[in-house]
Amino acid sequence: MKEKLTTNKAASNTALLSITTETPFNKRHDCWFCGEPNQYVFTYLNSFEPPTSENQFISQLSLPSCKECYQVAKKSVVNAKHEGLHLSIWTIKSEVKQYLVEYYRKDLAIGINWTKRELEESEFGQGNFAGFQRSAWFMFELAKARVNYVSWPLIVDGITVLDEYLEQSFHFDDVVYPNVEQATQHYANTFLLSLDYFRSVLELLGNDDFSKAVRFCRLLVAATTFEQQQALRQLRREVT
Ligand SMILES: [Zn+2]
Repeated sequence: MKEKLTTNKAASNTALLSITTETPFNKRHDCWFCGEPNQYVFTYLNSFEPPTSENQFISQLSLPSCKECYQVAKKSVVNAKHEGLHLSIWTIKSEVKQYLVEYYRKDLAIGINWTKRELEESEFGQGNFAGFQRSAWFMFELAKARVNYVSWPLIVDGITVLDEYLEQSFHFDDVVYPNVEQATQHYANTFLLSLDYFRSVLELLGNDDFSKAVRFCRLLVAATTFEQQQALRQLRREVT
């Protein structure tokens, strides 16, 4: 068993260093990061890791990408290099997703604040906001699709490269955030909550009670700092 694990790890390292990834036929026009039509190829250079004797050393990974994701991915590589860091392909992907969540902050907030029907019946039909009302749900769905897009697995010679970030992603209300911190920031922004306060409440309730933490903070959104602290103390007594 021990030997098998070692073999798998070696195989996974080989895969990371390899260039040929298998793109599923039905995804051949997709950006690996977000699913939009691809126009670019993001080349990931993995020259950092020295080759090991038993593994074949191939130093790059090429992924079809849309212009926007390509630019963000490229930028995160340049920034990392500047700081003397080497990012894994999964860290780069996580940074692209973080960019998308921030870029679409207002559009994603539509889905948090409205249902499709409510928005349709919101009677902005004749006013200045008519155009906004018409495009808002479409933009929300587009944003959600790009943020949630499940990249196809990186498969090289039949070996799947394990996604080291999969466990960090956080699913909430139909949106997949790269991590819980990103979701926390997004909700704090959307509901004008104090980020520190929201974090404290979430820490007490736990990530599984994310929705309760949001509701708790929203109840107290107009409360004074003193009242908020008092509520937090009470909550702490209740949960401990
Ligand atoms: Zn993309």
